[in-house]
Amino acid sequence: DHPFFKEALPIIQALEESGHEAYFVGGAVRDLLLHRPIHDIDIATSALPNEVKTIFMHTIDVGIEHGTILVLRDGCGFEVTTFRTESEYSDFRRPDEVKFVRSLHDDLKRRDFTMNAIAMTAEGKLIDPFNGQPDLTKGIIRTVGDASERFSEDALRMMRAARFMSQLSFELDPKTCKALVDHAPLLSHIAVERKLNEMDKLLSAPDKAAGLSIIAQTGLYAFLPGLAGQKKTIERIAALQLQPLSVNQMWILIVYEAAAGDITNFLRGWRMSSRRVKRIEKGVRTLNRVLTEGWTDLLLYEMQLEAAVDCAEAMAVLDGRPSFSKDIISRWHALPIKSRSDLNATGSDLMEWTGKPRGAWIKECLELVEKAIMNREINNTKEQIKEFLLSCSRL
Ligand code: ATP
Ligand code: MG
Repeated sequence: DHPFFKEALPIIQALEESGHEAYFVGGAVRDLLLHRPIHDIDIATSALPNEVKTIFMHTIDVGIEHGTILVLRDGCGFEVTTFRTESEYSDFRRPDEVKFVRSLHDDLKRRDFTMNAIAMTAEGKLIDPFNGQPDLTKGIIRTVGDASERFSEDALRMMRAARFMSQLSFELDPKTCKALVDHAPLLSHIAVERKLNEMDKLLSAPDKAAGLSIIAQTGLYAFLPGLAGQKKTIERIAALQLQPLSVNQMWILIVYEAAAGDITNFLRGWRMSSRRVKRIEKGVRTLNRVLTEGWTDLLLYEMQLEAAVDCAEAMAVLDGRPSFSKDIISRWHALPIKSRSDLNATGSDLMEWTGKPRGAWIKECLELVEKAIMNREINNTKEQIKEFLLSCSRL
């Protein structure tokens, strides 16, 4: 009855009318059964990719080599993937070849966890050969089949287990947990980008502490960039009240606690975009400055609002006190100027007053002026700025 499923229903029906099987599968079915918000719908079908393409008017080949076709309907996209198995994992990551199969059972069998291996028909009937439903009810993350084998096939599944713990607050089945400990080193074969993707999901989820604790406990941490030897650090972070933090604020906290001065290298190790590296780095720099200088207006002005709020959120969590971002935001709004362009004197004014040509001296003077305004020594008027610069023999 869910609106998302309703939208996708005609796709399943069209596949069935063409003589194929088609089912809802994966995260959407799991989240429907858990009454959690659904963000994307995956459909599995016995139709081969080329057959899918002939049945629907508008399709995009998003991953045709894996059997996935995006079917567009009323502006929404639905991923339709041919039943497949993944054979021969020789390098602990993606399979050497994808084999299309005609049976749903084989397709469900290659999926990672029992809760992710439930299919649902157009009529809402569940097909659950690996007993995902009881595991969902009990809140257990359990691999489909032998955990050791499944983690050896694709080591990323171990990170997925940790992030599902964060997202769902579930427990790990003991055998699955044991296999995680035994196979943690296989994580070194996994591309950093895929690890980052799972780590970001873990750090955006409600129960971040659960995911971080399992990473520390099982030894996965030793195969994550910059975190080898940081078990204690991760445990210390996991013991904090992390709930209110955004994913970037979480990274600020982790970098602050774990990166011992080498912030850029730590973040580059995770292959983050330079934009993200800058944002996180700035948050950590702000944190370090606040600890020595306190929350001065000058610091707020120099670091700007976003970094100040990120820092305030992270600090509140570190100190175990309520968020004080609201105060920081009010103080930001009360600043006499927010940026250099708000100054009522410009470089041209300075050149006119002195008769000197453009040069580095202008920036130095403007910085002095900004500082004086932030310290409320002068107001932001042309006269006072000129007077101030004269008084410190800059003009
Ligand atoms: P999310 O809510 O993050 O989308 P999801 O369970 O839908 O969670 P996806 O990465 O979208 O995760 O994958 C869709 C489905 O594909 C999963 O539910 C699972 O059945 C299967 N799957 C995904 N990754 C793997 C993997 N590494 N090994 C085995 N099966 C996988
Ligand atoms: Mg999904």
